[in-house]
Amino acid sequence: MTNTFPTPAPLPPPAAVDLNGRTALVTGGGSGIGRACVLALAQAGATVHVVDRDAAAAGAVAEITGGPVHVADLADRAAVDLLPAEVDILVNNAGLQHVAPLTEFPPERFELIQKVMVTAPFLLMRRVMPHMYGQGWGRIVNISSVHGLRASAYKSAYVAAKHGLEGLSKVAAIEGAPHGVTSNCVNPGYVRTPLVEGQIRDQAAAHGISEDDVLSDVMLARSPVKRLLEAEEVAAAVLWLCGPHTSCLTGASLPLDGGWTAC
Ligand code: NAD
Repeated sequence: MTNTFPTPAPLPPPAAVDLNGRTALVTGGGSGIGRACVLALAQAGATVHVVDRDAAAAGAVAEITGGPVHVADLADRAAVDLLPAEVDILVNNAGLQHVAPLTEFPPERFELIQKVMVTAPFLLMRRVMPHMYGQGWGRIVNISSVHGLRASAYKSAYVAAKHGLEGLSKVAAIEGAPHGVTSNCVNPGYVRTPLVEGQIRDQAAAHGISEDDVLSDVMLARSPVKRLLEAEEVAAAVLWLCGPHTSCLTGASLPLDGGWTAC
């Protein structure tokens, strides 16, 4: 099947949102979507704390923004408890994938994915929400996935974690509402990141088909828009959720999925 939806021309900068004086924290900020979020928030004027277990990747982003870096493993509760609490914008982004049939899924891998993708976001919300309540303003953006709304075979831990994150986000929205704090999920389909580019190569080799065919017939089979999302498109949605027009938008899940969940 031909890819009839090529990647768009270079994207213009996102709509102006002024975050001067705001402090943000982005987990998994060293790569992919997290990196794009760090750059977009910093470009809007925020001081952005980059949290990642990959010191080199986090350092490379912080070199561009001049913001602080925290090398931390989010599966380690003690490390999460050392992260800054005076944060106005929290982006829970760090994540990982493991693909295996449920009957063969390694339990320790399942537990790790819940720790990084559900427990760490909970611990971070618990940590930063008192500061947000104190000032009457805060934005929590959870990078969920189309897999927070739909399931796929062989992704039990990831789908369970993203559905858990969806529930957590809604509770934060309800509790945060009287304090000017919103909490939302962003739900991308497949995004062009190092993680996904590797998956395309692996699947092409495994199935003996071209990378274009992996894209159109495997990854994008359920998406009416037949192209990968760019990380900057996700970051633009995150930035918009932190802007001045979204204080009534809370407890929501914003699909950036090329129409996948409309099917
Ligand atoms: P990525 O692999 O490019 O980046 C993930 C970052 O998280 C890395 O820098 C990694 O070091 C960091 N990280 C992972 N585990 C960590 C841990 N225990 N402690 C600290 N840092 C850790 O991934 P990405 O594609 O940018 O994905 C980012 C988020 O977006 C994930 O939550 C993912 O589920 C979600 N998402 C991705 C896609 C996609 O197609 N790429 C689609 C939907 C949702």
